[in-house]
Amino acid sequence: MGKLIAENIREDFPILQTKVYGKDLVYLDNAATTQKPKAVLAAVADYYKTCNSNVHRGVHLLSQQATAAYEEARHKVSQFINAAFSHEVIFTKGTTDGINLVASSFGKKFLQKGDSILISAMEHHSNIVPWQMICEEQGATLKVIPMDENGVLRLDTLPELLEGSVKLVSVTYVSNSLGTINPIREIIKQAHAKDIPVMIDAAQAIQHLPVDVQELDVDFLAFSGHKIYGPTGIGVLYGKEKWLNMIPPYQGGGDMIKTVTFEKTIYNDLPYKFEAGTPDISGAIGLGAAVDYVNAIGLDAIQKKEDELLNYALQQLAGLTNLKFIGKSAQRASVISFLIDGVHPYDLGELLDKQGIAIRTGHHCTEPIMDFFGIPGTCRASFAFYNTHAEVDLLVAGIKRAAAVLL
Ligand code: PMP
Repeated sequence: MGKLIAENIREDFPILQTKVYGKDLVYLDNAATTQKPKAVLAAVADYYKTCNSNVHRGVHLLSQQATAAYEEARHKVSQFINAAFSHEVIFTKGTTDGINLVASSFGKKFLQKGDSILISAMEHHSNIVPWQMICEEQGATLKVIPMDENGVLRLDTLPELLEGSVKLVSVTYVSNSLGTINPIREIIKQAHAKDIPVMIDAAQAIQHLPVDVQELDVDFLAFSGHKIYGPTGIGVLYGKEKWLNMIPPYQGGGDMIKTVTFEKTIYNDLPYKFEAGTPDISGAIGLGAAVDYVNAIGLDAIQKKEDELLNYALQQLAGLTNLKFIGKSAQRASVISFLIDGVHPYDLGELLDKQGIAIRTGHHCTEPIMDFFGIPGTCRASFAFYNTHAEVDLLVAGIKRAAAVLL
């Protein structure tokens, strides 16, 4: 048997002791953002208390300490995702920023009129809009892998979709609206058989599943620090060295250069070529602490606990006669979307909030998924390892109480 999550794990998260409207907070919006353990809060505060200064620039001691801490965080992230080199880890603002970087830099270099980018029907807006923007600029088109009524990608369509001049495939590992875990290994295998690189949006995977970029053989992968117990404002773009060397910088400014004259600028080496300006130093250090924290608990233990919570919640919610699940993939991670017949998701969300239960309602930045199911939005409960079975019971009781008022 693997490790278990400690009984008192919730004590690591000060916010979980918060009361809302006089009730214990039941935080079930972890797919939107996760809560932060004391170790992360302390790492950020310690940085500002002890070595706050700018990185890569100063000869003075504080700057050296800040640089060492920032680069140590990069090293931790690179080990966490098993990158071949630390310089394949670019610090960004988040998943959105990482995808925009690749869309812009890869797109400008490799995308031409008549080419296409292949995404899937279950992408977050941040893995749709940047591609639309660059396609429009370069005269390329966007193609979409369809999904079925269960919220499962139709892989049977992939061989045909990969025909023609597809220049890159970009898909999400886990759907933030449906919880579906996509068969990215198969997608990568088929794309690579045609020499097409693949980008993975790991925003909803990195906190639930082991991600080994070398084993996946993925070309680009992006995630956000705030979804894995780290601070907001920091994220990671992994790119294979060969691709990062081939594509142009995303933004210009300090740190991303070797030399500048008015005639010509020589760009810096990786990873700095893609990190223009003062980076989010405290965010990176906080993310490093979050990675340490997750490693100490163990992703296997996290996965086991979250799967237990997910299955228990699916079972309990299935007992509500007027509840309909949106997304029924057998392969899923920590996210449940549902609707109650005759109840608008916003109304349910509001009544649950008054009971101290935080869920998300709306389109979850995936309007094409809502269009596919012909609905305005869903109610979404999403779990982290610090949630409890008792909280699932409170959710189910809360829904019954709210439905009694609303129906
Ligand atoms: N992709 C997915 C699957 C997501 O869930 C999210 C966040 N909801 C994003 C991308 C965007 O992440 P961020 O807003 O942190 O850039």
